[in-house]
Order: sequence, then structure tokens, then C-alpha cells
Amino acid sequence: MQFTDLKAQYAALKPSIDARIQRVLDHGQYIMGPEVQELEAKLSAFTGSRHCITVASGTEALLIALMALDLKRGDEVITTPFTFAATAETILLAGLEPVFVDVEPDTCNIDAKLIEAEITPRTRAIMPVSLYGQVADMDEINAIAAKHGLAVIEDAAQSFGALYQGRRSCALSTFGATSFFPSKPLGCYGDGGALFTDDDCLAQAAREIRVHGQSARYTHTRLGVGGRMDTLQCAVVLAKLERFEWELRRRAEIGARYQRLLADVPGLTQVTVRPDRNSVYAQLTVMVEHRAAGQAALTAAGVPTAVHYPKPLNLQPAYAAHCCPECCEVSRGLAERVLSLPMSADLTASDQDTVVAALRSAIVQAGG
Ligand SMILES: *Cc1c(COP(=O)(O)O)cnc(C)c1O
Repeated sequence: MQFTDLKAQYAALKPSIDARIQRVLDHGQYIMGPEVQELEAKLSAFTGSRHCITVASGTEALLIALMALDLKRGDEVITTPFTFAATAETILLAGLEPVFVDVEPDTCNIDAKLIEAEITPRTRAIMPVSLYGQVADMDEINAIAAKHGLAVIEDAAQSFGALYQGRRSCALSTFGATSFFPSKPLGCYGDGGALFTDDDCLAQAAREIRVHGQSARYTHTRLGVGGRMDTLQCAVVLAKLERFEWELRRRAEIGARYQRLLADVPGLTQVTVRPDRNSVYAQLTVMVEHRAAGQAALTAAGVPTAVHYPKPLNLQPAYAAHCCPECCEVSRGLAERVLSLPMSADLTASDQDTVVAALRSAIVQAGG
């Protein structure tokens, strides 16, 4: 059993992926070829966002969004510590200061009620993460941002395709930043990402930053990066879009089935999905006591698992100077209990049954 089954997906899409790649090899425009624009047009139509700018990775998408906002060294960005390192890493790389706000114990997303208390005269932006594939309380976050004149950057690396009150993740705030890392809900065969915005000026800034800050060839108007997404990777995503809607339906079905099958497992808590939104289950994550023993029993039963994430960022050495290890108690508690189970659009019902049965006995073995 695979944790994320990319082989079955390739088998299903092989003719279109191979043809798309071959077309790029034939025309030879490896950088900014026609597939780049084609993908940007399709993704902006899909999300309902005015602009899509493809970039080299999800990390680059976050960094370019922050750079486009034109902030001053030491300005503060409010975010969550219960996320992948890239979220806070890009804030520091942009010369800004991350301010960590704890998460909700049931959704694992930033707790919007705690944000306002952390706003200072230096606060410039809020960067919520749509963790595991579910958007955070974006209405509340946008309202706080509007009141204080802040930008909102959604770290949507795990939530491409998710719905929030009928609207798509990535099109809900100043910027939406996503990743096409192979195991994300929409992935390429290497690194890739995209930035979304409705703001024409910010979109132009992001496009220039993506190519070393050039407003015209060899006219470097602003500081930039080498942040383009390869034509070949855009071609792979274009092929994968052919069955993406089907994959989203499958993910929803498999997620709902997990929810039913896990409902009566003692000592296990599921991540809550709020009624006004859905999850694309980038990770199918549950909370268990005695995780180490449970995970070992699952490994022994041939069920691959992962932990997203074993330490909140406020406990990581690289960020120690920017926060207190005693803060964000909910995040620290979750980091000890979360466990991610196999999930992909091609997961079979029988493999899913195997996972649930193994999890049930692993929990009993581990002592409830
Ligand atoms: C994957 C991920 C990123 C980074 O994306 P890359 O494409 O790997 O650079 C950023 N934030 C979160 C929450 C992620 O899961």
C-alpha cells in the first residue's frame, strides 16, 4: 500500500501526460513556453481568481507574495506555528518577523479569535494556512485584516480545489499561494506552484519578481528571484487537470468513508470539517494517544503513515529567536497526537478497510 498513490494516477493518465511532455520536447520552449500561459488561464478560470502566476514551488509562491507587498524590514506577519516550515521560513527570508498565533484544537487551523490580540503597529499581513486541505475561518480573518489595513496571504499549498462557502481556495484573499509538489492534491512531477490574486498591481509585481524583478528585458525595476515554473511541469499539471474534478469527488468520498469507519474507534479523534466548507484531504489526519506505539504497529501491519507535524515551528531551533517555546499550547499538544493515514484518489475500499482494521488493533495494542 502507498501513502500517496502516484503510480495508479500515472497509469490512468499516461497517454495524455506522455503526449503533453512530448509536445514540449518537440517545440523546445522549456522556459515560459505556451503551456505556462495555458495553465495559468485554466487555473485562474478554475479558482475564479483574476490572475494566476505559476512559480517554481509553493515556497516560492509565498516568498513572491510577501515580496510583492513591498513591506519594510521587521514588519510583522501573523501566522500559525502548526504548519510546514515554508510558511514561517518565507516570512523571515523576506526580512519580516513571524508572529505565531495558536490553532483551533478541532480543525488544526489558525484560531481567528486569537489574532486581534497579536496585532501591533508593525503588523502588515496575516498568513493563514489551509491545513490538511481545509480553509481556515477566512471571513473572520478578512474582516480583521480590513479593519486594520492588512493583507491576507492564504497558504493554500494543501488546499487547491477546496471550497469555502461555495468559493475556491486560492481566490479568497489578497493572495492565494499553492504548491504542485507531487504529493499535493494537484501535483506535477517535480517542483511547481502558483500565486493567485484579483489585484492587477500585485499581479504585475509578482510577475516581475518571478523573473528577477524585470519589467522589461534587462530592466530590473525591483528585487526579484529566479522563480519560474518549467514548461514541462506546467504540461504535467495540464494533463492532470483532465481528471482533477473526478479526483476531488473521489477524495470527498474516501474522506467521508474514513469518517464513517473511524467514528467508533475508541481513543481516536477526527479533524473537524466545518459545514460551510470542505476538505480536499491533502492529508487524512486523526488524533490518537500513544502515537509512537500506534504508528509502529501500523508500520508492522504494512500500513504507511506520516506525522504532519511532529513539532510546531515555535519549538524548532531555526525559529527559536522569534517566539517562545511555551506559547501555542494547542499546537504543542496536537503535534504529539496527529497521525496521517494513506490517502489518494485511487485508494481502494479494501485498502481503506485494511488501514482502519490495522488502526483499530494498533490502538488497542498501544493501550487505548
Ligand atoms: C508543501 C507546503 C508548502 C511548500 O510547498 P513546496 O512546493 O514544497 O515549496 C508550504 N506550505 C505548506 C503548508 C505546505 O504543505
